[in-house]
Amino acid sequence: MWSISTTELVLDFDNPVGSVLMRTSLSKIPRVLVIGLSLVVCGMAPPETVLEQITFDEEGSPRTISGRVVVKAVDGGLLVQERDGRLWTVPAEVLQKRVTTQTPFRSETSKDMGKRLVAELDRSVAPGFHVTHTRHYTIVSSADPRFARWTGQLFERLRTAFLAFWKGRGVKLSDPEFPLVAIVLKDREQFSKFVRRGASFDPTTTTGYYSILSNHIVLYDIARVPGQPPAATSVEIRRRLSTAPRAIATVVHEASHQIAFNSGLNRRLSDNPLWLVEGMAVFFETPDLKSRSGWRTVGRVNRARLARFADFVQSRRGRGSLQSLVGSDRRFRESDSAADAYAEAWALNYFLLRTRRKQYASYLKTVSAKPMLTWDSPEKRQAEFEAAFGKDWDELDRMFLKYMGRVRSR
Ligand SMILES: [Zn+2]
Repeated sequence: MWSISTTELVLDFDNPVGSVLMRTSLSKIPRVLVIGLSLVVCGMAPPETVLEQITFDEEGSPRTISGRVVVKAVDGGLLVQERDGRLWTVPAEVLQKRVTTQTPFRSETSKDMGKRLVAELDRSVAPGFHVTHTRHYTIVSSADPRFARWTGQLFERLRTAFLAFWKGRGVKLSDPEFPLVAIVLKDREQFSKFVRRGASFDPTTTTGYYSILSNHIVLYDIARVPGQPPAATSVEIRRRLSTAPRAIATVVHEASHQIAFNSGLNRRLSDNPLWLVEGMAVFFETPDLKSRSGWRTVGRVNRARLARFADFVQSRRGRGSLQSLVGSDRRFRESDSAADAYAEAWALNYFLLRTRRKQYASYLKTVSAKPMLTWDSPEKRQAEFEAAFGKDWDELDRMFLKYMGRVRSR
């Protein structure tokens, strides 16, 4: 039996007292979840391959969605995926009707998705949205089209580098089943308006987020300078962004999450330990703004996180820090410990990726295969970590601190 709380759908969340690199990134949570969801999972079956029409009660009014059922709970509750990849949890108590069609489930095309999202956003945010397609991305934007295109190219380069990095370490990844969507708002004001439509978090301290439920990245034109015309060339975009390193790192961080969750590395709504998910996103977040095609900054020492980690080790890190980081996500979710947890997660991924390549790849395989909507106990998480990296936590901790003590900012 399981229950899911809203915090379990949230990746990075705001930490007002934390590192300057902290960011807010909350999943957009459909109202149905807020009602209070408690389903009982009967084990994973392969997703249904036909389209179904699911009608449920949404705050007193019926709502119908079409998609495939990916999890059916023993009490009748459903996890449904629409053709754009969006996930819906439909608890048994609000489910009204389930109609199975003969139509096979297929992803919506990027063209249809772009058109539909433009119409939706024109209506719900402000008129003026347009679509930019790149090979894997559908950028739906109200920003200057040149910034939208630049963003798409940045994400394509990041994706290529991300996949090549894991391929080089023997981790096989897959193509995304659904087009990858980024919503790029024209400015911070419109971004705040967009975020406030459906989420209950404060958008004023964030520049972007990845939503596990919608599968979208949302950001705004961070190269825009109030009172000035939009950047006309990619050189000008880069020049402006060089003065906003935190903002661009956030965008790259969130894009890394989206790639990880759409390449088979992480599975949405399964028990992905945050030390792995967040440490990996930080590992990739250093942007490479200079290359036209490559991405040379993967795995570069993250100076801000290294400084935070060194300070943590010096003054606050207690015994058993690794076990607590691995065993539960609590330290990431509490504002007084989150910045240290992100720093230690980055350091641990950095250390393991450099010194325990094979073990890391085998651990990734275990995590990637986790079923949806099943949350592991701290003991199970630690046992899986031990299966890959050994049972001697004290020895690992000693090697970890020794290794990180030698790493220097470059
Ligand atoms: Zn993150």
